[in-house]
Amino acid sequence: MKIAILGGGQLGRMFIQNALKYDDEIYTLDPSENASCANISHFTKGDFNDFQTVLDFGKDKDVLSIEIEHVNVDALFQLENEGVKVIPSAEIIKIIQQKILQKEFYLNNNIPSADFQIIQNKSELNFSFPFVQKLNKGGYDGKGVQIIKDENDLKNLWNEPSVIENLVDIDKELSVILAINEKDECQTFPVTEMVADPKLNLLDFNICPAEISKNVEKQITDIVEKFITAANSAGLFAIELFLDKKGKIWVNETAPRLHNSGHQTQEGNANSQFEQMYRVLKNLPLADTESFVFSGMLNLVGNENYSGKVKYEGLEEVLKLPKTYVHLYGKKDTKPGRKMGHINVLADSREELLERLINIKSLVRVISH
Ligand code: ADP
Repeated sequence: MKIAILGGGQLGRMFIQNALKYDDEIYTLDPSENASCANISHFTKGDFNDFQTVLDFGKDKDVLSIEIEHVNVDALFQLENEGVKVIPSAEIIKIIQQKILQKEFYLNNNIPSADFQIIQNKSELNFSFPFVQKLNKGGYDGKGVQIIKDENDLKNLWNEPSVIENLVDIDKELSVILAINEKDECQTFPVTEMVADPKLNLLDFNICPAEISKNVEKQITDIVEKFITAANSAGLFAIELFLDKKGKIWVNETAPRLHNSGHQTQEGNANSQFEQMYRVLKNLPLADTESFVFSGMLNLVGNENYSGKVKYEGLEEVLKLPKTYVHLYGKKDTKPGRKMGHINVLADSREELLERLINIKSLVRVISH
């Protein structure tokens, strides 16, 4: 089968790494010839935001998917009309691409997400402090999101179409990854805790399974069920959640694709998110997602003081450790905050896991030559 993926980054790379155990042809499209997928797939250099490029890339494939959501959605609608299978659907990608549509989707489907106002420009603002401003389009990895605490911060307000959202008093950030195939079978992975690096606004650790109450678990199950009905599309989705200090769950946002919060499934679960994605694209029985142990992940991100040809300091020390798995993304150059790889860790308890993650973080540095 010809499987095509828009985007050629690390998510695509790890999808391919797993899919190579089966018999398919994998095609990727990315503007950079140094993309993580470039030399491990049938690679096309091109812009996934360009209508004609996406159309040409997808038209002779059996199934087309994404590893980044900022793609030309008109081309996806066109390909669907021409009979190419697009997973997830063009419609749900379109909704998720635009924060305004995404928030309306949650509201219309009774999925709890923080109260909000939509503004087209600054003058329409009518919301009490503190709040979060999220640009309608183009946000990624924490860019396009800012907190406005009070009057003094108002000078920073972006004069662009945005969602203005209530600031949630966050206890924990959680994520749940779910898969839906075309037979409408669904399977979720255990809920994961995401611990962020406040400076880079980039995910830092994952801890799985999350330490949450039965009540919180139930709130998440309800959200997943509502999402599945509302999305009405096959696909693998990561729903990012906030647990507030009163014990209530709010949906932050959804990624219609593989997600950083699921990397530890590579060794921590019976099957990984990458295997699950493969099953979804081929409409196969969904994989068992059970976790046997505590698993965690540490992102290897470029140190803030280095740019250029990448050098990984301390990796040999890490490779000496038991139940520790290094994954690099094939990126030649590092820059501050760039995701270059990750390390998965297994442990018998949450305490042991945290201890080991913190130790590993102190051993490695992503710098340049
Ligand atoms: P991105 O799409 O770039 O990942 P997010 O919408 O996930 O951006 O926001 C990035 C981070 O900002 C979140 O992980 C969270 O820590 C913080 N954040 C976003 N929305 C809110 C909110 N309503 N209340 C409190 N913190 C928020």
